[in-house]
This record gives sequence, C-alpha cells and structure tokens, in this order.
Amino acid sequence: MPRRTKIVATLGPATDAPGVLEGMVAAGLNVARLNMSHDGHDRQRQRVERVRTVAKATKTPLGVLIDLQGPKIRIGRFQQGSIELAAGERFCIDLDCPLDSGDQTRVGCTYANLADDLAAGDQLLLDDGAIELQVTEIRGRCIACEVLLGGKLSNSKGINKRGGGLSAPALTDKDKADIAFAAEVEADYLAVSFVRSAEDVILARELFTQAGGKGGVVAKIERAEALEHATDIIKASDVIMVARGDLGVEIGDAELPAVQKRLISEARDLDCVIITATQMMQSMIDHPMPTRAEVFDVANAVLDGTDAVMLSAESSVGKYPAKVVAAMDRICAESENYRRVSKHRLNTRFKRVDEAIAMSAMYAANHLGVKAVAALTESGSTVKWMSRLNTGIPIYAMTRSVHTRRKTTLYRGVYPINFDVASTDIHEVNREVIEELLRQGTVVDGDLVIITKGDRGGVEGQTNIMKIMRVGEHRLLADD
Ligand code: PGA
Ligand code: MN
Repeated sequence: MPRRTKIVATLGPATDAPGVLEGMVAAGLNVARLNMSHDGHDRQRQRVERVRTVAKATKTPLGVLIDLQGPKIRIGRFQQGSIELAAGERFCIDLDCPLDSGDQTRVGCTYANLADDLAAGDQLLLDDGAIELQVTEIRGRCIACEVLLGGKLSNSKGINKRGGGLSAPALTDKDKADIAFAAEVEADYLAVSFVRSAEDVILARELFTQAGGKGGVVAKIERAEALEHATDIIKASDVIMVARGDLGVEIGDAELPAVQKRLISEARDLDCVIITATQMMQSMIDHPMPTRAEVFDVANAVLDGTDAVMLSAESSVGKYPAKVVAAMDRICAESENYRRVSKHRLNTRFKRVDEAIAMSAMYAANHLGVKAVAALTESGSTVKWMSRLNTGIPIYAMTRSVHTRRKTTLYRGVYPINFDVASTDIHEVNREVIEELLRQGTVVDGDLVIITKGDRGGVEGQTNIMKIMRVGEHRLLADD
C-alpha cells in the first residue's frame, strides 16, 4: 500500500546541489516549500523550475508551496554581531536606535509601532524563547526591559510577545510582492504567515487571485489570536498549518500537543486540509537518524489525522535532505497501519450532490472492502471530501488538469493520475479507468473498485454517479 500521509519539505542551500532534489523525490517528497524569508526571487524561481523539471523527468506529481515571510518582528543588528545578556540586567528595545547599531544597552527593531502594543509587565521572547525580557517601562519609543532569562543574543533574532497581541498586519509590502511572484511561478499553494483572523486569509486570497494565482491558500496558525478565531480561519482557508515554532513561543510549548490535536480534528470536520510543521525531525539537521521522540512525533501527527508532515531546516540547511524524507516516509507508512473506524460526519447533512456522492462512495468503500476509489474530478473537490474520512483505501484523483494534480499532492490518501476524460468516449470511461488502475498495478482481476463521475464529464462540480465494478468483468460488460 502506498503511503497516505504527504511529505512537505523546504528547499534551500542544502537541496540546491546537483542530485539532492532528485534524491528527495525518490525518497517520497510530495510538496516542495519555498520559504520567502530567505533568498531572492531569482534564486527561488530557479528552485521552482527545478521542481517542475524533476517532476516531469521522474513522472512524479509535485506541488509547490510558497511560504510568505509575514510580519516577523525582529531586533536590529549589533555593532559587534552579538551580545551576552545576564538575568537581572537592564536592556532596551529602542525604536529610535538605527537597525545596525545595537550595543550592550540597546538594540533597534523592525516594527516601528512595537511600543504601542506593550505595557509594563509584558514578557518578550527573543530567539524563539531562548531569551526572555520583562517590560519595566515604556519611555516614548524606548521599551525598557529587565532580563529574565539571559544568554547570547545575536543579530536579527525574532521577537514574540507571550500570549500574543502584537498588532502588525499579516501582509507586509514584501509579502505583497511575493504574492505576485507566487502567482507568476504558478504556485500550487500560498502560505500566509501570522494570520490573526479570517480577514487576513481573505485578503491574501484576493491579492493572489488578482495577480493571476490559481493555487490554494494555507493559513499558518502561529499566533495566539489565530487560535481564538480558528474556526473562521479554517472556513476561509484551503489548508491550515500548525506552525509549532512561533505558536509554541506565543502560547507555551506545553499547550502545543492539545492544540495540534484539536486543530487537526476541526480542520478535517470542516473539509479543510492540514499540515503539521516544525522541528519534527530537528536532530536530523546534523544526524543521519531521528531520535525516538521524533519518530513518535511524526507518528502521532499521522494518528491525529494530519494530511501532511513538514520539514524546514532539516531539509533546507540540513546534512541529510534525502535521508530525512526517507525517514518520514517509513514512519508515516508504518503508522498508518494503526487505524480506527471512521465516524466522520455520521451526523451531518450534505449540501451538494457531488458531496453526497463523495461521502457515499467512501461509506460503501469502507464497508464493502473495495480495493480502490477512482474519482474523475476537475477541481479536486470530490477527492478532498473523500480524503477527510479515515480509510486505508487509496483514492485516485483522475484528472486532465495539471493544477488539480499538483494541488491534490497534499491530500492524505489521494494519488493524482493524468487522465483525460474529455477525450474519452463517455461509454468507454469505466473501462478506461479500470485499465488505468491495472496499469498502475493497484488492482487485479476480481477486485472491487468504486468510480465516481458526472454525466457531463469534464465539468466542475457535476459528479452525480457512483459505480461499483469488479475488475475483469469490465471487459465483458457494455458500459452504463
Ligand atoms: P516559519 O513558520 O518556519 O516560517 O517560522 C513555521 C513555524 O513558525 O512553525
Ligand atoms: Mn513561523
């Protein structure tokens, strides 16, 4: 059985060397992520082109996800590169301090309105929580702090406020330029960082669409405020990402596991796709093998029902980009064998005919024991509904649309296949589908398969037929 959970990996300097991306694809990569916090458009465009070239050469559907930097608030730089802070010392984040002239007493900041969002008593977490400051006083544009947790502080480290509440809007000018870039390279997904509410997602989608973008929008859940509006954000998004790095800094690491489980379950209930991200295989940046704890982290995300697991630094700057994909591949595949009976949407109503066909097909598939479900789909919505349900049965997204094939690389248990329904005689369709599954080697004579399709083949949202067929008999029977 092919692995159902999908693997997203970030490309970077470590994956640019010849042969590395090919190795990652051979190991099971499904979606390549480009992090717009690093490198310029030229470099990232080359990476997208390489992904498309390798996909073609290896006949592997690969999605491209462009991840916006967002309003990550950072301190400025130090004259000497870094400083040492000790607990109890005074230190200032000074909005009037030039960005390149920090010293032992103060440093600048990239967010000019930071002082307006803070009051005495607030805690600031620098460098993902490695340094903790407590605000003692706001003096004009100088945020006076006492060091609670000291250590080495180097250039341009990120700043978060414990509990959230920084007002920086989710889309910066750089993000807007990067959205145009994402549209230009035909990204399959656009990930929006630090969203606060559904409005941020809606605005990003508007800009992406206006720029000609056709891909889905991913909302990264990494602010405390986003959790308060999780339901609305999920409804406004194609995909959400549990961005455990920044989120953990804002809400505290101990809250993350419960939040991850709640988000995955709510996303699936609301027909949204979900990626679990950050530090899943952290030790593999430097080592060829994961820790036991990392094995369990990936496995637990799979058991929680995530669509995809993600690699950041492990692949982009790590020593073993292909090995870490291979490790995720084997852990996901094994963990999927531990399955529970699906109770997905037993008590909800369906709004649309195609949705009802999708859900009925999966109910029949799970209870009858079919070998494969083949959905003839234009937009991919049929297979998205299907894949929200817990099952071990492969779901084939059979479509002529390259955009739909690339988009569905992210959906759990969905395997895109290039299939041109429009050019096929309507009475031949069932036979063609089964012949294709036979070619893929996923079924043999005697297996049951379910096919969903529309009377009007090739038209979006028109699925209205579910057909159960036995492989082999398809050669004898006239269709329909
Ligand atoms: P980042 O987002 O890698 O862009 O920071 C993910 C996270 O915060 O976990
Ligand atoms: Mn982040």
